Amino acid sequence: MSTFEAPLSGRHFLQIPGPTNVPERVLQALAQPTIDHRSAAFAELTRSILERLGKVCKTSSPVLIYPSSGSGAWEAALVNTLSPGDRVLMCASGHFATLWGAVAERLALRVDWIPGDWRHGIDPDTIETHLAADGEGAIKAVAVVHNETSTGCISRIDQVRRAMDRAAHPALLLVDAISSLGSTAYDHDAWGVDVTVAASQKGLMLPPGLAFNILSEKARGAARQATLPRSYWDWEPLLEANKRGFFPYTPATNLLFGLDAALDLLFEEGLEKIFARHARHARATRAAVEAWGLELLCLDPAAHSPTLTAVALPAGGDADALRQLLLQRFELSLGTGLGKFQGKIFRIGHLGGFNDLMLAATICGIEMGLRLAGIAHNPGGVGAALDALVRD
Ligand code: PLP
Repeated sequence: MSTFEAPLSGRHFLQIPGPTNVPERVLQALAQPTIDHRSAAFAELTRSILERLGKVCKTSSPVLIYPSSGSGAWEAALVNTLSPGDRVLMCASGHFATLWGAVAERLALRVDWIPGDWRHGIDPDTIETHLAADGEGAIKAVAVVHNETSTGCISRIDQVRRAMDRAAHPALLLVDAISSLGSTAYDHDAWGVDVTVAASQKGLMLPPGLAFNILSEKARGAARQATLPRSYWDWEPLLEANKRGFFPYTPATNLLFGLDAALDLLFEEGLEKIFARHARHARATRAAVEAWGLELLCLDPAAHSPTLTAVALPAGGDADALRQLLLQRFELSLGTGLGKFQGKIFRIGHLGGFNDLMLAATICGIEMGLRLAGIAHNPGGVGAALDALVRD
């Protein structure tokens, strides 16, 4: 029998923490006829996109766009700045940090891991201690994930920067902002980030398929010395072609149409309002989880993510069976537990193109699912979320 199930009537609720719901205006933009990527109209599109993307990341440095998933932008950040055998300091803050470290190791870099329990944000003091102990400057980069999509913990990149400055260490700061950019404050220049890695399918409200590197002058300098092999990911040909509004290869034209429309939406709503909306939806979601008496995976209130909430089931509960039930009964997709949390947690994405009623429906679906699955919980999560939305 085919595993494909015909959809129920009505809409699907895509509440995984990315890819996120793509707004109607972006979908329409994606459906435009493809144009010549060497035409004047295309060059104008590129320039306008790059200029506005810089504003989203708060940078006056170049922003580079790859036709790629986020993992490609991880690789691009490493191969442009580092050389074989270089040491990279990374924090084991969750599944995505672990994957990025694995990419580094496959590229012949040596990763110094700061251990973590996947339930807290990054501790800047530990970074300072490690860097202070590296008197000869063998560590060439600190690579951290801003918002761990696998755990729902967000870290303070400004504090990581300050820790590096206190240690007076010259390492580059590489930051994965894949599930934070466009949804919460992110300040590439002010935080002294050397390479920001981002992707299209989260706060930027596009389908998967575009990924970004945002550079600093220091990163560009490092790229001139770095000797890891690179071709497709090489920043220089891209920077050169981008000056004229073009790419050194065939770009993902229609995704760029979509990005153009998504940037319009971001600036029409206003970044500050968008950040406040995400924080408010996260608070309402946590109010529901607390009312159910379930455990938030993130143990540090200061590190609660504004873009997703990871929820632990009571011992013996099967989070993937619950997710399956929610999909089959209610057309609701929630994020699965990743890595060591597979089957133990589910993740609610509340980022991107999202509003109060979408959140209310999501929380309703989960509460019905908890009842149907016989998972021990207190009733009242829906009421708590609605109260929070009305009050906040
Ligand atoms: N980093 C983070 C924080 C992510 O959430 C993801 C994907 O969800 C990735 C990296 C990997 O990105 P991709 O799956 O687009 O390659």
